[in-house]
Amino acid sequence: MIVRKRIWPRTFSDFFSMTFILMIVPLLYWFELWVVLPSVYEFGSFPYILHFLLGNFIMLNVVGNFTYIVFCDTSTRRDIMPISAANTKDGWRLCASCETLAPPRSWHCPICDICILKRDHHCIFTGCCIGHYNHRYFIMFLLYLFIAATYSFCFNNIFIWNRIRFEFPMSIIKIIFPLAIFVFGFDDSIDQFYLMIYIVSVVGMLYVGVLCIYHFSLVFNGNVAIESNKRIRLYNLGWKQNIKEVLGERWYLTWLLPYTTSQLPHNGVIWDTLSSWQYSNSKSK
Ligand SMILES: [Zn+2]
Ligand SMILES: [Zn+2]
Repeated sequence: MIVRKRIWPRTFSDFFSMTFILMIVPLLYWFELWVVLPSVYEFGSFPYILHFLLGNFIMLNVVGNFTYIVFCDTSTRRDIMPISAANTKDGWRLCASCETLAPPRSWHCPICDICILKRDHHCIFTGCCIGHYNHRYFIMFLLYLFIAATYSFCFNNIFIWNRIRFEFPMSIIKIIFPLAIFVFGFDDSIDQFYLMIYIVSVVGMLYVGVLCIYHFSLVFNGNVAIESNKRIRLYNLGWKQNIKEVLGERWYLTWLLPYTTSQLPHNGVIWDTLSSWQYSNSKSK
């Protein structure tokens, strides 16, 4: 992996979103494992230890994949462009901003100010582009965020509704407008704080769930966001190969940890289309 040199967010929205993620993830981790879990299971009991270990495993994957996304350089700069291979018929184009030839499926990011190999989108939560070399970590990051949020949701429901008495209509107002707790008083303020965390985690779960559906379907269809919008179907090699194109040859192990090596079938510069892929496959048989 080639490490990105400038990891500091470049715009205010990147800075704001990245700061939010860097604050909310540790806060939820603390809340789930040090507040919610000991209140549901007795400290040191078997289910407590089991959920504690599972929680840490999920957190390791969330943090690990996030770190890999941020540090992985997936721009065109990481490869010496084989200019001899460049042919506008094969989808190569001249990028006026980079003043160089850029390979097919790469797009220029105005925020990162460079062309990104198989660019999917610019992610404001990591302050960088998602492209060929960090796509795997992004998909796993989303998956583990969703697992974490759903897992927490089950525990949080037991925890919060044991602590907070449901009063109509005040509880509804406080759930819909969390900031209303500052207007209607600070009685049981720690419970109100927990209620706010609960609401943030529910909203997060729904938001990440929608992102998962969208991005997983792109992967299954062998597309990146911009190709899907332009209805380009050139790189759809069948769902199984499409998964390998993102997660690598050992795709079935990538969920374990971000450190698991899994070689990508393409170098991000030269791509197979369905016909060339079928042709090379039939030759190798
Ligand atoms: Zn460019
Ligand atoms: Zn970007």
